[in-house]
Amino acid sequence: MSQPLPERVTEPREVAPHAADLAGLDAAVSRCYACPRLVEWREEVGRVRRRSFAEDNYWARPVPGFGPDDASLLLVGLAPAAHGGNRTGRMFTGDRSGDVLVTALHSLGLASQPTSERRDDGLRLHGVRFTAPVHCAPPGNRPAPAERDTCRPWLVRELELLRPTVRAVVALGGFGWQALLPAVAAAGWAVPRPRPVFGHGARAVLEPTGAGSPLALFGCYHVSQQNTFTGRLTPQMLREVLAEAWRAAGGGASPPG
Ligand code: SF4
Repeated sequence: MSQPLPERVTEPREVAPHAADLAGLDAAVSRCYACPRLVEWREEVGRVRRRSFAEDNYWARPVPGFGPDDASLLLVGLAPAAHGGNRTGRMFTGDRSGDVLVTALHSLGLASQPTSERRDDGLRLHGVRFTAPVHCAPPGNRPAPAERDTCRPWLVRELELLRPTVRAVVALGGFGWQALLPAVAAAGWAVPRPRPVFGHGARAVLEPTGAGSPLALFGCYHVSQQNTFTGRLTPQMLREVLAEAWRAAGGGASPPG
């Protein structure tokens, strides 16, 4: 950040472009208060709590991206879960969705352990970063279009900062796919016309609009319980998309261990 970070960020579009690195961006995201409905919800969930987490001190703030700042593969979900990321303060952490995703990454050598329980559990991602187009837990897991748009500058800046290394992105679910397309366009890649359509296994190659490398885009059903419990998304299906995306990202056959 070229200027000191305000205590409360209310205009992401003014603050995000000035983030000099991902650590600065993550710090700024976690101070965001731009969406009144989501601020109220994330804090209320943290006050009321689920009975099984009654002793937990909920994060109840925006959840920044997680993973190395030179990631070559970016995974884009929907938004933090009320009692997952909104509780633990780390993306895909503390709920079944996180475990399914991290187990798959671990089986490919892209995560240091198969579970994702707490912010201080020692999990490290190798070459992979998680993020979301909406950084606050929304009621019913449904952000409003205006909230998605207000949050977009954070994702645009994250993509810009990752541009030297990122070569592939996986959109987990249709919401992530739709939200990602305008963000990658703003961050320097051309979105084909007609726009690529989301589906499990969908893929497209986005060419850079200036200097830089192409970005391979993959679609994957979201790792929500609704999909994993019903078998719509099996562990094998998830692993196949992640492995293909990792290869497209330049990871080759032997991911780091
Ligand atoms: S959803 Fe995004 S823009 Fe809205 S308050 Fe949270 S971090 Fe800020």
